[in-house]
Amino acid sequence: MVAGWFAGDGEDFRLLGTRCSACGTVFFPREDTWCRNPGCAGAGLEEVALSRRGRIWSYTDSRYRPPSPYVTDPELPWEPYALIAVELESERIVVLGQASPGITVADLAVGMEVEVVPGVLHEDAETTWTTWRWRPTGVAG
Ligand SMILES: [Zn+2]
Repeated sequence: MVAGWFAGDGEDFRLLGTRCSACGTVFFPREDTWCRNPGCAGAGLEEVALSRRGRIWSYTDSRYRPPSPYVTDPELPWEPYALIAVELESERIVVLGQASPGITVADLAVGMEVEVVPGVLHEDAETTWTTWRWRPTGVAG
């Protein structure tokens, strides 16, 4: 469900978007059909790796079950988590994501620098599905 949204491991982990070759607009989640810029007729979209670091634009405590592509088991109690909107300066887009494990809204502030790190979306006996998390760059680990 999230194939092609990110690539790499560890320090090489990057979100993948697409960029219009005509107007330069960057899309995440990736847009592979046509440029969504209403003033642009461009149809050429190329994959680009997004910046690893951005700044917190806003954040919230999420107290509801998240929509797709997150997988949740409705039988389990829902654990609130911090949801962060991160502005990527060079791409001029905002990317939503959960904070890395152990990070709560008390650890966050608007304007704080964060970096994208791999995280576990869901796992069972055979498979681990990976997603992305935002982690403040001042936090070790
Ligand atoms: Zn365009």
